Amino acid sequence: MLIVKKFGGTSVGNRERIFNVARRCAEEYNDGNDVVVVLSAMGKSTDELIELARSITDSPSKREMDMLLSTGEQVSVALLAMALGSMRIPAVSLNAYQVAMHTTHRYGNARIKRIDTDRILNEIEQRKIVIVTGFQGIDKFDNITTLGRGGSDTTAVALAAALHADACEIFTDVDGVYTADPRHVKNARKLDEITYDEMLELATLGAGVLHNRSVELAKKYNVVLVVRSSLNENEGTIVKEETNVEKMLVSGVAADKNAARIAVVGLKDIPGVAFHLFNSLARKNINVDMILQSVGRDGTKDISFTLEEEYADEAVAVIQKNFPKNDYNSINLDKKVAKVSVVGAGMQTNPGVAASMFEALYDAGVNIRMISTSEIRVTVLIDEDKTDRALASIHEKFSLDMA
Ligand code: ADP
Ligand code: ASP
Ligand code: MG
Repeated sequence: MLIVKKFGGTSVGNRERIFNVARRCAEEYNDGNDVVVVLSAMGKSTDELIELARSITDSPSKREMDMLLSTGEQVSVALLAMALGSMRIPAVSLNAYQVAMHTTHRYGNARIKRIDTDRILNEIEQRKIVIVTGFQGIDKFDNITTLGRGGSDTTAVALAAALHADACEIFTDVDGVYTADPRHVKNARKLDEITYDEMLELATLGAGVLHNRSVELAKKYNVVLVVRSSLNENEGTIVKEETNVEKMLVSGVAADKNAARIAVVGLKDIPGVAFHLFNSLARKNINVDMILQSVGRDGTKDISFTLEEEYADEAVAVIQKNFPKNDYNSINLDKKVAKVSVVGAGMQTNPGVAASMFEALYDAGVNIRMISTSEIRVTVLIDEDKTDRALASIHEKFSLDMA
């Protein structure tokens, strides 16, 4: 069997943890399997590198930022190869350039386009454990790129697909995918299985346990994922196309505090305004999320939308630049908002999920500022400081702590 194993930052956070990973990989190898390992940077080292860059300048070049951040993964793969070497297990570490892992050009948020598998297969052939840097790639000019925070999961899934691996295991610091972030909701329960679609929604809506692109790729290439702990032998959660269990009404709740809301108040109520607004943002590569337009009055209307917090100031500037002052009354920006979502495949056939969610928010005294839905999700925008209270109340309303 060819097995891809990915270990996150906490799982390789210090010397002991690195040897723990080495032992787990060695066991698999000694059972006669081919093993490809993908690692994240140790502990919080990516955050530390970001801090380091900030100590130099407020606006580092995106290219140099990726050059810097990619070093974190290079440290951990080399150390794991050394640890395995010290245990007399043949291993080799490879970075994105050595593999080669081809991505688009977009620094900080590149997408994997193609992976050359020759070098990896060659090393496997020689019975080596191959350890690959997660999170990084190269563009067509050999510049180093990164895949976005949490992107090592995506490296692992892409490799599993390219190598036609028999299994892809994502090892992390919790036992699997839970009904809510177990660090914030105390009764959260581990799920045995979850579908790609549900996982994709949860990951996109703030469940940081998997990078959302990794789930997208897993679905596209039909890579069955197992999410499990690197610190125990518990079974973990299987992410796949169909689950055997009766479709659950709701499989999880997620929160995303990295949201901001912009309201453009008193826009002229004429055709083309929304087009002009969102087109000017799109041209600057600013992604918007929920959109709400008020009922027009006195020839004016308000348009509010949400987006990732880090783009909020730029978005306001773009609007100010593209709309003459007398085309609107005011722009107001609120960064203290959070998105809270419930996700479940069972929603498609069961009405009332949204109503129950709103009731849970009412019970908790949380005001809803915006609402959006898809076939398998309901999302609301609320004040950020009410997030944990909202999560707990919704989790309880759907009895997610009970099997
Ligand atoms: P790694 O470094 O292994 O990639 P991450 O920090 O990226 O680990 O992801 C694991 C974390 O995801 C957990 O520690 C947990 O706090 C968080 N998390 C958020 N939502 C969920 C969820 N629904 N199920 C499990 N973990 C979650
Ligand atoms: N080291 C990167 C990060 O912290 C990638 C990852 O952990 O998946 O975002
Ligand atoms: Mg992660």
